[in-house]
Amino acid sequence: MKEPASPPVVAIKGLSLTYEAADGPVYALSNVDLQIAEGEFISFIGPSGCGKTTLLRVIADLEQPTGGDIHVNGVGPEEARLRRDYGFVFQAPALYPWRTIQKNIELPLEIFGVSKAERREKASKQLELVNLKGFENKFPWQLSGGMQQRASIARALSFDPKLLLMDEPFGALDEIVRDHLNEQLLKLWDKTGKTVLFVTHSIPEAVFLSSKIVVMSPRPGRIIDIIDASVLGRDRTLDIRETPEFLKIAHRVREGLRAGHSYDD
Ligand code: ADP
Ligand code: MG
Repeated sequence: MKEPASPPVVAIKGLSLTYEAADGPVYALSNVDLQIAEGEFISFIGPSGCGKTTLLRVIADLEQPTGGDIHVNGVGPEEARLRRDYGFVFQAPALYPWRTIQKNIELPLEIFGVSKAERREKASKQLELVNLKGFENKFPWQLSGGMQQRASIARALSFDPKLLLMDEPFGALDEIVRDHLNEQLLKLWDKTGKTVLFVTHSIPEAVFLSSKIVVMSPRPGRIIDIIDASVLGRDRTLDIRETPEFLKIAHRVREGLRAGHSYDD
């Protein structure tokens, strides 16, 4: 299992972040240690307000930690951002309504000054990966919520980064659509070998998708358990959710979340 040769994609040591709000400090993260290896699918699960978004934003250089150390692909978050080492998918698709799907996916490339021919080629590769071929000339509002979110995944992948950060990307979708997107995301992960960091509220979603599940405590967010789910294999279909192995892991996640809560009050 261990491959000391390839350095961790994300290495976090003693990370803390305190927001200075008007009515006093908010301790969002406290002493987080975490190493993520290449090709993993990591889910972060924890109660609302425990710092999951903050943690992804620190990795993406959208927020500065107040303590500790963080490296992304061996460099600081700022350098990783400038190198376009990762793509970010937000909870809302945030597509521009006046641009077609193709043009939305091309946008990051356009901003970066990539030539038109290369933009087309890169965008169509990502469109194919998220099964949106044939929809490139539609506008976002002509697509369902699930399709819009697939388009925003394609946009995050426009530079073909090896690391994908996803903050509750399917949280606003109904369960049937979410199930379907979970299956598609797993296939994408398997096909591309990307490293995925995925924030969710949902225990079944976390267990279904992940190679490892990081359970976080209520604020200030700390890691209370890291659960290996690789026994479920990589090639998963939704029926595995009824297997004893799946239920055992889901149970451990639930126990972790519960333990975190009693700790708090
Ligand atoms: P989660 O994503 O787990 O729900 P967040 O990372 O969004 O949690 O937030 C963690 C805590 O930090 C919450 O209590 C939230 O209200 C607070 N917080 C987030 N952003 C800011 C900010 N810019 N200023 C002050 N407090 C913030
Ligand atoms: Mg959040």
